[in-house]
Amino acid sequence: MTNTNGKGKVIAIDGPAGSGKSTVARALAQRMGFDYLDTGALYRAAALKLVSAGVSEDSGDDAVLCSVLRGTTIEFKQGMVYLDNKDVSEEIRTPEVGHFSSVFSARKPVRDFLLDIQRNVGGTNGSGGIVAEGRDMATVVFPEAWRKFYITADEQTRAQRRYAQLRKKNADVTLSTAQSDVASRDDRDTKRSIAPLAKAPGAIEIDTTNLSIEETLERIMRELY
Ligand code: C5P
Repeated sequence: MTNTNGKGKVIAIDGPAGSGKSTVARALAQRMGFDYLDTGALYRAAALKLVSAGVSEDSGDDAVLCSVLRGTTIEFKQGMVYLDNKDVSEEIRTPEVGHFSSVFSARKPVRDFLLDIQRNVGGTNGSGGIVAEGRDMATVVFPEAWRKFYITADEQTRAQRRYAQLRKKNADVTLSTAQSDVASRDDRDTKRSIAPLAKAPGAIEIDTTNLSIEETLERIMRELY
């Protein structure tokens, strides 16, 4: 099935923080020759913009969010994310931006702003399709996706992966802060009223707790055809 924007095949991958879905989605896109879309990067870029504009996380005013986002451009090209034409691919990877992206992603102006951007990315260069990963790919953004996956892992494993990832980037983090970050993000992402993280009907669930990236990729490849 193709999606309504003529993108070719859409593979939608959802899952919680630290589940391994980004690494697997990127590798899958490469193997399939598809475009890759990391929607978490878009939420991180939007959060970076809001924080830089001085919007506080408990600002209850949607009009403030709308006015900041109205003049904002966020683009995702070849694995890089651009905020107002500046490459912010590295800047968005801090624990702070992760926290704010989770907070602001619960807000309707933010989700509305990013919806069209997500639907308009990729798949248009004759690549045949797109691998899109996030929290609401199969439920909201691409409900007509060709294949849908829900990638997960137990909380302890996800915290350890997140910790290792951040340590690689020299972030100031301990295993215990990574654990509480994963737990609070799970809580916010699954309980928010708009587009909460959930397994879509018909999505294939893969628990990666005891699987390597390569094994996860093989599982997905077997489900595709
Ligand atoms: O995937 P990543 O951890 O980079 O995403 C950052 C945050 O953006 C998530 O914790 C989630 O709150 C939000 N997000 C979302 N919907 C998506 C992708 C990410 O709400 N499709």
